[in-house]
Amino acid sequence: MSTLRGAFSSAAPTFSFEFFPPKTEAGVRTLWNAIRRIEALSPDFVSVTYGAGGSSRDRTVEVTQQIAADTTLRPVAHLTAVGHSVAELRHIIGQYADAGVRDVLVLRGDPPGDPNGPWVPHPEGFTHAHELVRLVRESGDFSVGVAAFPELHPRSADWDSDIRHFVAKCRAGADYAITQMFFDVEDYLRLRDRVAAAGCDTPIIPEIMPATDARQISRFADLSGAAFPEDLAHRLERARDKPADGHRIGVEYATAMADRLLAEGAPGLHYITLNRSTATLEIHQNILNSRSTHHALAAHG
Ligand code: FAD
Repeated sequence: MSTLRGAFSSAAPTFSFEFFPPKTEAGVRTLWNAIRRIEALSPDFVSVTYGAGGSSRDRTVEVTQQIAADTTLRPVAHLTAVGHSVAELRHIIGQYADAGVRDVLVLRGDPPGDPNGPWVPHPEGFTHAHELVRLVRESGDFSVGVAAFPELHPRSADWDSDIRHFVAKCRAGADYAITQMFFDVEDYLRLRDRVAAAGCDTPIIPEIMPATDARQISRFADLSGAAFPEDLAHRLERARDKPADGHRIGVEYATAMADRLLAEGAPGLHYITLNRSTATLEIHQNILNSRSTHHALAAHG
């Protein structure tokens, strides 16, 4: 069973899509509809987020195992240290190995309930992501991804400590990183340059979140603290009651960001789907079209 690791040694950018475990039967149908449409594009991988507790975590494991068993896709399992002893984490990693899932995105996670509340480690668990990176690497032949924060992790006191901890996490055994969502390409480029200046060449894949509805904006801020561009906010606000216009604005903005990121040498794009495929598939198709035009122009010299 191979791992995702090989994908990062190629010069071609990786393309990947993120899902979350649905809570309802209708949600399951929506997710599988998106999965089947995305499967047709043969992405490098798809990932499934890990919930804050209980049944949502079981659903992450189930959906990830089902993608491995029933599709041609490579599933990457998110896993957090929240509320787990090391023994429990070992058990989950073992479940993935048994299902042929060899790729894990390792996160520390946030406190359940209030994500900004004080972090209390499980008495027999981990305090920071690098410890879980080590555990997954010691548990077998797994590829390991980690999180990166273009706008500084909300708990980091300053950039120096943030980059130092990020680099330590990579050196503990990460093969790649995926960023938190962001809406200004400069934030990604600054992070990448800071990491490179610290002597770390772990590929950092930008996460692409299509913002198609003004009502999403405050939720983005709550989820990620990502600053939202005023101009885009105004345009989405004007389209508040015209969903087709909002959709077009969001797809155009995300396409322009993704195009620029690839032109700047980003090693891939990781699209958040919110379990719906429409906006992300349009952005991805736009990117494929502009890359084939670019290659055709280059070939004609
Ligand atoms: P860490 O790397 O441990 O960093 C957390 C903070 O601690 C940072 O400020 C860091 O600088 C600091 N730090 C790190 N190491 C040390 C050290 N040795 N000493 C002192 N300070 C240190 N959450 C979920 O619950 N489920 C998900 O599925 C999920 N998926 C995500 C996917 C992506 C791509 C991203 C970007 C985030 C995701 N998250 C998810 C959110 C994530 O769990 C939180 O952002 C969490 O606060 C940080 O996790 P981390 O792995 O970066 O932690």
